Amino acid sequence: MVKILDLHFQDLEGTIASFLVETSEGPVLFETGPHSTFPHLEEGLKQHGYRVRDVKHVFLTHIHLDHAGAAWAMAREGAAIYLHPFGAKHMADPGKLMSSARRIYRDDMDRLWGDMQSIPEAQLRTVAHRESITVGDHTFVSWHTPGHAVHHIAWQLDGVIFTGDVAGVKLGNGPVAPPCPPPDINIEDWIESIKLIKSLNPEALYLTHFGKVDNIVDHFDDLTQGLEDWANWIREHLERGETAEEMTPKFQTWAENQLADYGVDDLGIARYNAANPPWMSVAGLIRYWKKRNE
Ligand SMILES: [Zn+2]
Repeated sequence: MVKILDLHFQDLEGTIASFLVETSEGPVLFETGPHSTFPHLEEGLKQHGYRVRDVKHVFLTHIHLDHAGAAWAMAREGAAIYLHPFGAKHMADPGKLMSSARRIYRDDMDRLWGDMQSIPEAQLRTVAHRESITVGDHTFVSWHTPGHAVHHIAWQLDGVIFTGDVAGVKLGNGPVAPPCPPPDINIEDWIESIKLIKSLNPEALYLTHFGKVDNIVDHFDDLTQGLEDWANWIREHLERGETAEEMTPKFQTWAENQLADYGVDDLGIARYNAANPPWMSVAGLIRYWKKRNE
């Protein structure tokens, strides 16, 4: 029912996915990946017999570049883009999003993410919490699920949920890890969103990073524990007066050791670092604690 398209981000397998669902009114996509991997998206569609312009509906979980960076390129070929109301203005005018990303990534910007151009407002479809969108014989339900990002949506198709980042990052046989980039991380909201998804009793989750998860209860228990561990690590180091620069290499080592203890090899660790860079979570969790303490 769900076809996983591997976008080979940074030439690594199994780090960023897009998902293809075939309806009686043609193919729809969940997530586009970044613009830098657009040729792989095109190739993935082609392997299933489709051209980019055959996709008339694209569902985004949120507008971070690794999930939505190529949405404009799909829109240019005619697709409608479904997203959270809070994300729409950045997709219509990505200038601010791109300049803040360029400040962070500098010379790596083009290689990692590629371009982002504006999407005509007529093609942006904002969806409310619990809103249903029907395409042919399929109905997709939008669940607003903040925590990772305030504008995050988990999309339900019957017993399947496309979880974006709210169900964490789990690559291959590795553990689930919480991606905590700035600026929106909110642990309390995230835990509420996990409860909401669990209450839907899904049979399977599709994680953008990466693929199908069907042991839902264990998965969410591990994610909740991981979120608390990561947040507490940062809080303790903040209380010692450490700066982000001091914390980052220590956190990176700590996170990588957790992966190694779980049996993840060096290539696997490189994949985790590409899908969920530890320095981003240091920045995101520092921001979370500072906001919370204000
Ligand atoms: Zn994200």
